[in-house]
Amino acid sequence: MRPATQHALIAAMATTIIAHADELTALDQAIGDGDHGLNMRRGFEAVLSDVDALAGQPLRDALMNLGTILIMKVGGASGPLYGTLFMTLAKELPAEPTVTEAATALDKAITAVQARGKSEPGQKTMLDVLIPVQQVLARGGSDLLRRLPLVAEEAAQATVPMHAIRGRASFLGARSVGHMDPGARSSAVLVAAACSALEGACL
Ligand code: ADP
Ligand code: MG
Repeated sequence: MRPATQHALIAAMATTIIAHADELTALDQAIGDGDHGLNMRRGFEAVLSDVDALAGQPLRDALMNLGTILIMKVGGASGPLYGTLFMTLAKELPAEPTVTEAATALDKAITAVQARGKSEPGQKTMLDVLIPVQQVLARGGSDLLRRLPLVAEEAAQATVPMHAIRGRASFLGARSVGHMDPGARSSAVLVAAACSALEGACL
């Protein structure tokens, strides 16, 4: 990937998470312990401070280092899970991925997150956004960079009526119903940021 594209991609994900930190925290206040925005902002501030170095590295190294930063800085349940996602993408993505290769790599990364979190789709977690996004990516077709953010947004909305089975929200049982999962929202925000940066780079 060109360093300018990689820079735009990483900076977009980091700045979007930082901009949505209060919203993510509010969602986690409703059904968790209220730290998801703080956790994610701390991690992505560290990513943003390294963005120039990360942009100049081969895609594999940049994603591996980004995942390591998230594991070290985010904490909570989401830090190791997002770290696993990016580190598996690092291992699986070729230097210049096609859409098909990106879909295959994301599938492997989701499988790794599921193994780490002992979680399945439908349990009101980030997986409920990542999996539908991967499925649409795998089907391919035109206008993916515009369609994927909409898929992610709808999928995050679809966690509202779900009953949490994994993570802290599961402690609330049925009272988790009626609120969007914070990790689903952060995943949707990351997908939207990545797509808009890549769309800008492709124009
Ligand atoms: P913590 O729950 O430790 O406070 P965060 O608030 O940072 O961590 O992250 C919470 C989010 O992490 C949840 O909204 C959910 O999307 C995700 N999550 C938690 N546990 C799991 C799991 N076992 N599998 C997948 N995602 C999970
Ligand atoms: Mg939390």
